[in-house]
Amino acid sequence: MTRRISILGATGSIGQNTLDLIKRDPDSYDIVALTGGCNVAQLASDAIALRADVAVISDETLLHQLRDALAGSGVEAASGASALNDAASRPADWIMSAIVGAAGLAPGWRALEQGTTLALANKESLVTAGPILMQHAACHGARILPVDSEHSAVFQALVGEDIAAVERIIITASGGAFRDLPIAALNTVTVAQASSHPNWDMGQRITIDSASMFNKALELIETKEFFGVRPDQIETIVHPESLIHALVGFNDGALMAHVGPPDMRHAIGYALHWPQRRDLPVARLDLAQIGQLNFRALDGDRYPALALASRVMEEGGLTGAAFNAAKERALDGFIAGDIGFMDMARVVAVTLDKMSAHDGLQKATMSLDTVLEIDRLARVRAGEVIAQIGT
Ligand code: NDP
Ligand code: MG
Repeated sequence: MTRRISILGATGSIGQNTLDLIKRDPDSYDIVALTGGCNVAQLASDAIALRADVAVISDETLLHQLRDALAGSGVEAASGASALNDAASRPADWIMSAIVGAAGLAPGWRALEQGTTLALANKESLVTAGPILMQHAACHGARILPVDSEHSAVFQALVGEDIAAVERIIITASGGAFRDLPIAALNTVTVAQASSHPNWDMGQRITIDSASMFNKALELIETKEFFGVRPDQIETIVHPESLIHALVGFNDGALMAHVGPPDMRHAIGYALHWPQRRDLPVARLDLAQIGQLNFRALDGDRYPALALASRVMEEGGLTGAAFNAAKERALDGFIAGDIGFMDMARVVAVTLDKMSAHDGLQKATMSLDTVLEIDRLARVRAGEVIAQIGT
């Protein structure tokens, strides 16, 4: 029996890795919707090759280009935010949420309303709206499967276990591009330097977030929201080899580690075939050749993003939405050359201070609308902070 599949963010790194798995076994899948942001050529070529029902490009100015590229193929072309949400609502058995940033929240939300399985790479959905997203899934009988490698690792270590027996969850961190650079040198690193990861091949934004450890900050919050553990049960440690993705510590002292090569097709494939395991085209580790695995404590001075994650987890409410949006705006500012690498954490901290004081982050009721409103407001506030730093 074929399974109906949609991929939100099909043109990105996670989207392309998902398509790599699907293209190896095309007869098993019917592709419903593929979406992209602005990469028309990739979107059209995959949509035609896999005979998708619809291809959606979120940038509306590119609709005519998409229509031209799909002419005669039978694939429907659409564009814009509402077309993206409509595509996510089309009945499918498995939907990959792999748009980058808070832009992935609304389409994922709509996908859950059809009571389907949502493979969630878009960690920002959980950071901005974790409690209501989990509730929304439960309300509609939908299932969320983690795709972030650390969270897939924890999910796998928990198979057959009682969450009440979990003492702690340890999320590993590669340390990113600048793990061995003197802290003083971090002030002057370039966008190009921050866009190269020592172990993983990922989209540019998450790669820079790995260098600043904002990615790990998002993942700590994601852990709290997805697994429902307390912040003091979540730890992180630098593991430069990126072979152990996470460990779960139980109340009898056992630590269950998930070990595998740094290849996202493992976590994607696990979510695609869950609850079964299927053969996947990932490298098999030769432990004798690897020889040793290293660990070291995280340096809070080097990675101020981690203290901000603790703050978000303590404050709760809409602080996650403000944090993520301020982080996304600060990242835009760094990529544009308006602020330095270490300024990103300063922008987020000052934005959170301002918004905690004036915008009722803890008191307001959380709904999709309030999350999106705080997201919008935090980008404005962070923009003001960036303008001050730049002058
Ligand atoms: P990429 O930047 O490679 O791809 C992002 C995708 O989202 C692309 O399809 C892009 O379209 C699309 N997109 C970008 N902006 C918008 C927008 N405003 N509206 C609609 N679509 C948009 O990102 P990654 O694949 O690296 O990451 C995707 C998600 O998965 C992120 O949340 C990331 O944190 C998470 N993740 C990624 C991992 C990885 O290995 N890459 C690992 C773990 C989690 P286009 O390219 O056509 O413009
Ligand atoms: Mg990860």
